[in-house]
Amino acid sequence: MDFLAILGIQSQNGAASTGIEWINSNGSIIDSFSPVDGKKTASVQSADAKAYETVVKTAADAFHSWRMWPAPKRGEVVRQVGEALRKHKDALGKLVSYEMGKSLQEGYGEVQEMIDICDFAVGLSRQLHGLTMHSERPMHRMYEQWHPMGVVGIISAFNFPVAVWSWNAALAWVCGNTTVWKPSEKTPLCGIAVQNIVAAVFKENKVPEGVNCLVQGGREVGEWLSKDTRIPLISATGSTRMGKLVAATVGARLGKTILELGGNNAIIISKDADLDMALIGCVFGAVGTAGQRCTTTRRLIIHESVFDTFTAKLVKAYGQLRIGNPLDTHNHVGPLIDKDAVQLYLKSIEDCKQQGGRFIVEGGVLEGENYESGCYVKPCIAEAANHLPVVQHETFAPILYVMTYTTIDEAIALQNGVPQGLSSAIMTLNMRESEQFLSHAGSDCGIANVNIGTSGAEIGGAFGGEKETGGGRESGSDAWKAYMRRQTNTINWSTQLPLAQGIQFDL
Ligand code: NAD
Repeated sequence: MDFLAILGIQSQNGAASTGIEWINSNGSIIDSFSPVDGKKTASVQSADAKAYETVVKTAADAFHSWRMWPAPKRGEVVRQVGEALRKHKDALGKLVSYEMGKSLQEGYGEVQEMIDICDFAVGLSRQLHGLTMHSERPMHRMYEQWHPMGVVGIISAFNFPVAVWSWNAALAWVCGNTTVWKPSEKTPLCGIAVQNIVAAVFKENKVPEGVNCLVQGGREVGEWLSKDTRIPLISATGSTRMGKLVAATVGARLGKTILELGGNNAIIISKDADLDMALIGCVFGAVGTAGQRCTTTRRLIIHESVFDTFTAKLVKAYGQLRIGNPLDTHNHVGPLIDKDAVQLYLKSIEDCKQQGGRFIVEGGVLEGENYESGCYVKPCIAEAANHLPVVQHETFAPILYVMTYTTIDEAIALQNGVPQGLSSAIMTLNMRESEQFLSHAGSDCGIANVNIGTSGAEIGGAFGGEKETGGGRESGSDAWKAYMRRQTNTINWSTQLPLAQGIQFDL
């Protein structure tokens, strides 16, 4: 595993970093096991309270100098981070695949997303612009500016162990903020690798210590970040359970959050769909990353007239799936992240059966040679009504629920009839249907696609969802505004002091 050495990963790794310096601590040890082969890869220390304190203090201090760097100069540093990621794409992509278990192609894809967001952020560093407004008062000028906020806390999930950090960090930095990242305790080595790659660039450019910080640990360290009044913005990606807790804690101190939480994504298959094209979108959406994407396709809402034809195609396609080592590019489906995830998968299958679901492709755990980690499961499909509790809930595994509809209104109601609101799609060649689906009376999700599946968003658009998905937006479009504070400025260049709203106040 030469990629570990290339990325500076040792058998024992530090708990925290203020950018270039590493800090040890007396925190508990996190062992990283690969779901690919079940082997322990390396150990990582958790940050203890002292290490955490050093990191946040350094990040808060660094903000004072970093915010004075012109934004395009900050962009130039981010450009070089993108270049460094290009150089390390192979090693980092392999580590993502090995530590998290996604396919090698998806591991590389994740690093490509990091490179793309760096490129995006470089351009953005010259476009952090506000509006000018016409004042109601004579000889007055009014405009708005966007200023950096300070320290941004980033809490990320295991399933996108590096890309989600980059969406946040690249934008936060060009906006003039410093960042403190807590990676998932299930993928701590990805955090170390990224920290090492960025440190070399920051050192070369004499970026102040504290702009790019890392703290390792689990829920407790996430709670420290959420409570910390020195951190005006927490960007948290993970389960809805976690998001509700973070929202309550940060909200109690009136801090800001960007929440990117669970999805329960559906594709509507119209009677006017190109069924062969739809099949690729549905199967990749449901089984890619072993069903562990926030945008994974979890439900198919299929027109009654094409239900039998389309489900027959699905069953055939599932029969051709190759499940195995994700670093072998011949395989379609890798493992789940750990044995706990396997238990949740099995429980959902049982719950589905008990609640009245009927499996048309059976699931199960794979055993024997090449499946020693115990984390490989069979993607499965159940006919299940939308209102079943198990269907309403996001199970982070490759279980696909299929159901029928008669009218497009009914299909849209089913699509919207879950607590989550992340990604949605319709497969149709019927313009009226697709326009209705995209209209204000259509999908209630943050992402709505036509003739594309639910997973695999591009970085150019704002990414995120509504309802229990948390409402946050990251990545492209004007998502950068969430990392800045808006200031309205009015300047009087007259010789009078007229008051707004025509108020007279004579002395
Ligand atoms: P998780 O909620 O278990 O953990 C996510 C992160 O939150 C981890 O770093 C964890 O240590 C931290 N955490 C947990 N409890 C916390 C608390 N009380 N306070 C502060 N931090 C806490 O999620 P996971 O299993 O790592 O990831 C899977 C989930 O993430 C799925 O629900 C998936 O849909 C979601 N996800 C959403 C998006 C999105 O953009 N909407 C992207 C990726 C993943």
